[in-house]
Amino acid sequence: MRTQIVAGNWKMNCDLDESQHLLNALKQKDFSKSNAEVIVAPPFTNLYAAHKTLENSSIKISSQNINENDKGAYTGEISPSMLKSVGVEYAIIGHSERRAIYEESDDLLAKKVTAALKHDLKVMFCIGEDLEKRKADKHFEVVEEQLKNGLFHIDASEMKDVVIAYEPVWAIGTGETASPEQAQEIHEHIRKILAKQYSQEIADQTSILYGGSVKPNNAKEIFAKKDVDGGLIGGASLDADSFAEIVMSF
Ligand code: PGA
Repeated sequence: MRTQIVAGNWKMNCDLDESQHLLNALKQKDFSKSNAEVIVAPPFTNLYAAHKTLENSSIKISSQNINENDKGAYTGEISPSMLKSVGVEYAIIGHSERRAIYEESDDLLAKKVTAALKHDLKVMFCIGEDLEKRKADKHFEVVEEQLKNGLFHIDASEMKDVVIAYEPVWAIGTGETASPEQAQEIHEHIRKILAKQYSQEIADQTSILYGGSVKPNNAKEIFAKKDVDGGLIGGASLDADSFAEIVMSF
C-alpha cells in the first residue's frame, strides 16, 4: 500500500559527461521488474540534461537541496520554481551533511519544506542521529525532535507529498550499516510518531526510507523489514550496476 522507493543521492559527484554516462547506463536497466519507484538526485548543474535524458524513462529526478525563497537577491542559490522548470519532482531536505557542514537549522529546514510543497515539489525529509546520540540511547528522541521542528508544521493533507529518510549519521559513507533490526525498530518508532501527530492512516501511507551504507549485498535484508519502504543510497548510487541491483532488491 506504500510506495517503495529507491533514491540515489549523488552528492557532489559527476560532471556533466559522467552524469550523462551514468543516466544512460541506468536507462538501459529494466526497472519494470522491480516494485520500487526509482529516483536520482544529481548535482544542480546536471539536472536539466538529466531531465532531457530521462524523458521517456520512469526514473524521477530530485534535487539535493533547495532555497526557501521564491526568487530575489540570494546570490548562489536555487529556488523551488527553478527546479520545477527543469523537470525536478523531488527535493531532498535536511540531509545530515546539510545540517552538519552547512549548519542548516530545523527552522530553516521547516521553511524549505514549506517552499518545496508550495511549488509542488515532493519532499524527501532526512532525519537521523549521530554516533554520540546513538551511544547515549537518544536516537528515538533525536528523530522525534527533528520531525517536530522541521516537518510537523505542515498539514495532514500535505503529507501525501512527503517521504521520510531515516539516515543514522554514523552509517553514512562509513561502510557501517544499521542492522535490519535496528532499522526496523526506529522506522516503527517514526511511524508511531506520525500516527500520533497526524493519523494512523497517514502513518501507514508515508514511505520511510533507510539510508546509510546500503549496498547490493545488504539491501534485500534491510528492505525486507516491514516498516522499511526503500532506501536513500549515496556511494552505491554512483555505479549503475550496484544501484540497479539495489533497486531490484524489491
Ligand atoms: P551512503 O550515503 O550510502 O554513501 O552511506 C547515504 C546518504 O548520505 O544519503
